[in-house]
Amino acid sequence: MSCFVNRMQRKRERKTRNEQQEMLTPAAPAQETYACTNCGNELFSAAAKFDSGTGFPSFWQHIDDHVKQQFLDTYGRERIQLLCSSCGQHLGHLFPNKKTPTGVRYCINKEAIAISEEV
Ligand SMILES: [Zn+2]
Repeated sequence: MSCFVNRMQRKRERKTRNEQQEMLTPAAPAQETYACTNCGNELFSAAAKFDSGTGFPSFWQHIDDHVKQQFLDTYGRERIQLLCSSCGQHLGHLFPNKKTPTGVRYCINKEAIAISEEV
């Protein structure tokens, strides 16, 4: 029995050692949601927003399948374009980022998102 408890404890310790999220500074209360300015589709949770230092609103995760990713190969540069899955509005681009838990950064145009009123 005590053996089982020890195993549970070890599992918990491993979890707390995962400190990736502490590298991020939440910029807004976690309950808020950012929605598409064109159609109101909820795109990002404020809990996934962070300050990237680029001046662009940046997120490390989108909501469900509300953001569409489109592979771009223009001017010899490979980029992933982000679109609203509902209306197709251009939101920004997806970049690799070592600091985020997901390994990517959603670089979003300020004009494309607004804090959703209904939460
Ligand atoms: Zn939209």
